[in-house]
Amino acid sequence: MEKQDLLYEGKSKKVYATNDPARLIVAYKDEKGAVNNHISNAVMRMLEREGVPTHLVRQLSERETVVRRVRMIPLEIIVRNVVAGKLSTLIGQPEGTRLRSPVLEYRYKAALLGNPMINRFHVFALELCTPEMLDEIDRLAFRINKILKQQLLRAGIRLIDCKLEFGCLPDGSIVLADEISPDTSRLWDAETGRKLGKDRFRRDLSNTIDAYQEILDRLERIHSVSYTHLRAHETRGNL
Ligand code: ADP
Ligand code: MG
Repeated sequence: MEKQDLLYEGKSKKVYATNDPARLIVAYKDEKGAVNNHISNAVMRMLEREGVPTHLVRQLSERETVVRRVRMIPLEIIVRNVVAGKLSTLIGQPEGTRLRSPVLEYRYKAALLGNPMINRFHVFALELCTPEMLDEIDRLAFRINKILKQQLLRAGIRLIDCKLEFGCLPDGSIVLADEISPDTSRLWDAETGRKLGKDRFRRDLSNTIDAYQEILDRLERIHSVSYTHLRAHETRGNL
């Protein structure tokens, strides 16, 4: 697989074209990138095993992964199991309140607008996707949430909420794309409530990387996930 032009540089990843028009290479950028790459791929493999279609093809190196090229739907799908973050002020409930049923939110991926929360009517009026596609996205999002919630709990991790992005393959089918990592989800220790994911108290970066590494270690423990390359912590010194 040959890496070609840089197509897009986002906050956390660079996206490259390849010699195969149906494939892209995603390269994670910052110091947390290698761990996020490993965690996202482990999670996507976990979901694939349960029949959820994802963009994952294979991990190429510590920071790089080959994915299926999709037409991204410019929505962030947030699935919430417990009140945290912006929902706390929105509905006036303290952080940590368990929700009776999962809550799904749509955010319009438009950085200049600050990724505002929108509803189904906005999605259709803006023609971000069709009603059929959004129904499929909802269905997949709830399924992904259910699988992740169960699997993470086996690793002693409580899934508070997570952000999902979906894309469209040339045949029109919807697949999970982008990443699922501690940067894009709230993960709390099931026993102590200690924050392991994006909302943990960040004293310094190495501290954050340690917490992310702990998530990866726990996932590996429950799944004996086989990696194509070295585990992230074995090469941490080189980051
Ligand atoms: P952003 O700052 O926009 O969130 P990221 O740093 O997360 O960007 O970079 C990843 C970019 O690649 C995102 O814009 C995301 O929508 C896009 N992307 C993720 N997976 C795929 C894919 N399989 N095909 C095409 N684009 C993708
Ligand atoms: Mg992103």
